[in-house]
Amino acid sequence: MPIYDYKCEKCGRFEKMQKITESALTECPTCGGQVQRLISKNVGIMFKGSGFYCTDHNRIKDQARSLNKERQKDNQALLDGDVKGFVEQSESTTKKVMDV
Ligand SMILES: [Zn+2]
Repeated sequence: MPIYDYKCEKCGRFEKMQKITESALTECPTCGGQVQRLISKNVGIMFKGSGFYCTDHNRIKDQARSLNKERQKDNQALLDGDVKGFVEQSESTTKKVMDV
């Protein structure tokens, strides 16, 4: 179970272990005052990190996939004995790689 940081206006910071499905406390268990849930540093970085990783990963996968398609066209041109076509196609692929 994750431990959440709270800040009570009167008591200051305290920690509370809660299930991830439990909703955030709104009242201080000590004084009944208003509390604010703080974003725990660890949790924040973890979510941020994995989010970025996912985005990057998918982006790279998409790029790899489209480049792979272009390279297949290169190879096809070469197999057809179309050297000029191969060179042109290959150059355009290289340009795309540079753009990435
Ligand atoms: Zn309090």
